[in-house]
Amino acid sequence: MTLIASDASSYRLLPFRFMRMQAESDRDVLITSETGEYLWVSDPQLQDLGFKRLQPGSAFYRDLLARHFIYEPGRHDPLPQMAAQYRSRKDFLFQGPALHLFVVTLRCNHTCQYCQVSRAPLGGSGHDLSEADARAAVERMFESNSRVLTVEFQGGEPLLAFERVRQIVEWVVERNVLEQRDIQFVITTTLYHLTDDILDFAKLHRIQFSTSLDGPASLHNANRPTPTRNSFERTLEGIRRVREHLGHDAVSALTTLTARSLEQPRAIIDEYVKQGFSSISLRPLSPYGFASRSAQRLDYPIERYVAFYKEALAYLLELNQQGVYLSESYASLLLKNILTPFSSGYVDLRSPTGAGTAALVYNYDGYVYPSDEARMLLEMGEEGLRLGSVHQPLSELLRSPVMEALLSSGVAETLPGCSDCALVAFCGADPVEHFARQGDPVGHRSFSSFCKKNMGLLKHLFELLRDADDDVQRVLLSWLNRRSYADVGLSGYRG
Ligand code: SF4
Repeated sequence: MTLIASDASSYRLLPFRFMRMQAESDRDVLITSETGEYLWVSDPQLQDLGFKRLQPGSAFYRDLLARHFIYEPGRHDPLPQMAAQYRSRKDFLFQGPALHLFVVTLRCNHTCQYCQVSRAPLGGSGHDLSEADARAAVERMFESNSRVLTVEFQGGEPLLAFERVRQIVEWVVERNVLEQRDIQFVITTTLYHLTDDILDFAKLHRIQFSTSLDGPASLHNANRPTPTRNSFERTLEGIRRVREHLGHDAVSALTTLTARSLEQPRAIIDEYVKQGFSSISLRPLSPYGFASRSAQRLDYPIERYVAFYKEALAYLLELNQQGVYLSESYASLLLKNILTPFSSGYVDLRSPTGAGTAALVYNYDGYVYPSDEARMLLEMGEEGLRLGSVHQPLSELLRSPVMEALLSSGVAETLPGCSDCALVAFCGADPVEHFARQGDPVGHRSFSSFCKKNMGLLKHLFELLRDADDDVQRVLLSWLNRRSYADVGLSGYRG
């Protein structure tokens, strides 16, 4: 809910939102300012604030003043400081798309049950990015004004089209002699088709690998079958080879959670610890591509995912206190949004939406999409979300009717449900997901999985920040600062 200023006494209210949460203490109401500052208050305090019964000079009054919930007309002008805070939080708006996904082929030898991209068979033709389209995509990427660029190769299985990957990397490196951008290359791969030649090339250009590890062998092989039924072993072998050639941190892993996965949070986490990863990403299934068709078997209500997530997070917090460093990547992004003046910049947690403004996808068919999810809809027969051809200038693609539609439904602060939600400063807008799930990019938050997930996770983190003991707080701060638990002291950041 939102309260707006009235002018009945010496101080004025600034716009703020509030939300009641679980009551562990009398401070069960979270109030958040327009610029993302927050404070826990009791119900009587909220009433005093709203009805302008605050005692000037009290600690509570000073807190509210410092965090821009109130101001004193004639004594100070909060707007310049609030504008600076707002600018910091929305700083990503000053940069063009930084994440550029090149879908070099749709071919793949895996038959993953939840596959989001409707892969093509190994020998399938007409599913590779052409040389001319790849060259044009590199041009589009450099038309972005972002100083930092990530070139991510996706599939299908990109290593099946490695010659195209090699060409693109070489063109980018050559062009960057003049451009002088900060460029990171990533290949998202099963690692199944890794060769020494690929590893040598990756070493030369400091290419990172991102792979899928769904948990222990039984779970991984069930989720990600191959004709030879050894996908888990081949993944581990690939991880070992990348680490040997390029160093331990040159490979990261993602897990996709099927209904089967939700029964074994500890086993999944234990596998990541065993394989020496420092980060795990516990992401739910997406409603796209094959995943949608297999939904009845694999999907689950988002409430089950949130319950799983809380259990997994509790286990991770326990392990970290024992000296194992393993952060959960989505929690780390949310913590950055909550505890710092800056946005994590993560595409799904941006408002205005990150689709097209933060990321662009150059598909194998020569068309450009505003996000990976948007191109996955194409494989479901939905073409409506393409921005245009890779041969059109970036300025034209970003002015396309699809971009206009996404942006007009992609500002969370203006969306029904979000506009008066106390969590909006830390959340994002995802018009592509709402279009995919609800057939409407604006969407209805009461039925939105995106909202239920973010609301569930944000509330849980806020409650941990308010109620958990110092050891848990130290783990959360260690994830935020990417430092070991032992290196983190507690500073007085609690609201
Ligand atoms: S999506 Fe849900 S949690 Fe996020 S701001 Fe909107 S209403 Fe709040």
